[in-house]
Amino acid sequence: MKEFDLIVVGAGPGGSTCAALCVENGGKVLILEACKFPRDKVCGDCLNPTVWPILEQLGLASAVRSLPSTTPAAMRFSVSGHREVEIPTTAPSDEHSYHEERVVRRRDFDALLAARAVELGAVLKDGTPVTGLRHESGIWEVMVASGEIFRAPRVVAADGRNSVIARHRRFYASEAIDRRIGMQTHLPHPVGYDGTLSMRFYRHGYGGIADLGGGLANLCLVANKNSMKELRREVEDHFGIHDRVVWRSITPIARAQAKEPARDGIYLCGDAARVVEPFTGEGISYALRSGALLARILSESNGLNTPPSRHQDEIYRLAHGKLYGKSIWINRLTRFLSEHPGVAQSLGPLLLKYPALLGFLTKKVLNNQTRGSKCRESH
Ligand SMILES: Cc1cc2nc3c(=O)[nH]c(=O)nc-3n(C[C@H](O)[C@H](O)[C@H](O)COP(=O)(O)OP(=O)(O)OC[C@H]3O[C@@H](n4cnc5c(N)ncnc54)[C@H](O)[C@@H]3O)c2cc1C
Repeated sequence: MKEFDLIVVGAGPGGSTCAALCVENGGKVLILEACKFPRDKVCGDCLNPTVWPILEQLGLASAVRSLPSTTPAAMRFSVSGHREVEIPTTAPSDEHSYHEERVVRRRDFDALLAARAVELGAVLKDGTPVTGLRHESGIWEVMVASGEIFRAPRVVAADGRNSVIARHRRFYASEAIDRRIGMQTHLPHPVGYDGTLSMRFYRHGYGGIADLGGGLANLCLVANKNSMKELRREVEDHFGIHDRVVWRSITPIARAQAKEPARDGIYLCGDAARVVEPFTGEGISYALRSGALLARILSESNGLNTPPSRHQDEIYRLAHGKLYGKSIWINRLTRFLSEHPGVAQSLGPLLLKYPALLGFLTKKVLNNQTRGSKCRESH
């Protein structure tokens, strides 16, 4: 049995950020990751501009900018059968500022974050799925598939939307009832795709396409499980995709947030604590920010060297609630539209008639000054 100050389960953006910042503050940290890295992940590959301060803190901002990636200058919104509206995201002079949205492959991005945690001193065991845990005399014993056991007084569950730890310790009030599924593929630019980051409500769900650079695009779809086949057909027709495409899938898309993000030395961050709707491309940012927030709270006042306390749990609960706060109402609106494709088909065209309103909503999500740039409409 090996002993650590902290065991982080999951080396996604939330887990690696938390581990890197805890180890930087002197903790002995182990990351247990189910997949062998580098690994792909069902995601739109879009980084919201709010990630940059955390990437700066991790010393990774320039490294991320050096990865194969693009900086979208605009977002295009559409509803099938209706006009398209383009909203500028960054002015050209913003390209290297905190305001930039960036499209970067998760395989590269997540590998960079995990490598940073290791560089700072964390131990990473990838290809090591956690299968269970138990509490023995104030210490968590974490079991992995090989039968090995690792021990620490604290465990961070950063193992995503289907968190084994959160489910095992009953952090969710109920199992997910969301009947939607997400699908994603990387493919060469479809003929006629001009590289603009585009979100579209189709009759059976929604889809987004983003330019990864080098002629590669990310295509993501979200629909109710029983409509996914139709959505795929609609999207393949829309982009004229005739070649066979290899899709990855994930479910659920939404789930009730954890009853509390911390209890008895177990802390949830990223999707494990709270899942946000993919449409607005904020999940990675919330994972990074909640991972960093948790690391700060765990490291404060010699935190990792003292036993877990209710007081520390409460501090994290309040700060976590504040992090998400009121800012996710637009995200909730997109979830509602996604769950009700009929409403999206009626309300979407109405929204497209008011580009200034769409510009306002986009600016809110990007937390960005779009500088009153003009929106463009086309049919
Ligand atoms: C269709 C779709 C599109 C999306 N598009 C975007 C987007 O464009 N931009 C954006 O910001 N967000 C997007 N998101 C959301 C984003 O992918 C997540 O919010 C983000 O990945 C959460 O990060 P995380 O670190 O919490 O979890 P994850 O990234 O899910 O990482 C969890 C890690 O834990 C590991 N793990 C799981 N179980 C175990 C176990 N038992 N033992 C050990 N390790 C385990 C996994 O292998 C994984 O590496 C999208 C989501 C979906 C579904």
